[in-house]
Amino acid sequence: MRPRGVLRPTPGSARLWETKRGDRRELWTEAVGEPPPVYGERWTEDDERQFRLFEPGRSKLAAAVVRGWSGDLPAPRERWLYLGAASGTTASHVADLVGPEGRVYAIERSPRPFARLLTLAERWPNLRPILADAREPVEYAGLVPPVDGLYADIAQPDQLEIVVRNAGLLLAGDGGRLLVALKTPSMGRARSAPAHRDAFEKALVDLATLAPSVPLEPFHKGHFMVGGRWGRYARLPVRERHPPTMRRGRNRGRRES
Ligand code: SAM
Repeated sequence: MRPRGVLRPTPGSARLWETKRGDRRELWTEAVGEPPPVYGERWTEDDERQFRLFEPGRSKLAAAVVRGWSGDLPAPRERWLYLGAASGTTASHVADLVGPEGRVYAIERSPRPFARLLTLAERWPNLRPILADAREPVEYAGLVPPVDGLYADIAQPDQLEIVVRNAGLLLAGDGGRLLVALKTPSMGRARSAPAHRDAFEKALVDLATLAPSVPLEPFHKGHFMVGGRWGRYARLPVRERHPPTMRRGRNRGRRES
């Protein structure tokens, strides 16, 4: 199917595209795999490429972009470690973003979604599913080379420890990218959602240089995207923040370096 608006590159990642029609903005990732859809998402194409709708209601990463995430996104040729891949909804989009020359090492501990992830990887050759517990990165360290980025969406009370352990062992070094879809309802009811987010960020302050977090509501209740670059003095990307609503004026559709 042809796109219902002009596909334009976004400033966030070379393989993340958008269409705008009136006030309606839609995000698309440039597909690495072939149809059929992974989870019922819409596909479109131009003369050379196929694209998959990247919906904020289905993916916390898409929700973060819509809510104005200004930190890094997975980029072509990078290697990412993905904790909590489930059956591959967002992991397949991360694999699209890193492109055919990148790799996504997708950790999932539940056998049922993992079986679907394995089937998906037959069509997404840059996706490497690993059945493992993210609390024990030593057990899969031999299967994962040093990675450029770590994405975590594991919805566990000890998310912080899991992220720190994996980042320390498997991120390539200072400047490695970190994206955590923080689920505050999993962290107990004693604090408010923003207080959980603040505590999480405070715990990372000596370990990472954080980009401004964004709330993922109304798409994902009680969630925030938190992250930045590993290393206390790492440099964050400098680029124009993408507003959550349609941008009007002379910069429309312009690609930033
Ligand atoms: N990231 C997925 C997406 O956007 O498509 C959704 C992930 S779901 C919220 C959380 C997943 O983390 C579940 O599939 C769960 O089995 C997995 N998980 C939870 N704890 C884990 C652990 N310690 N190790 C590996 N996977 C874990």
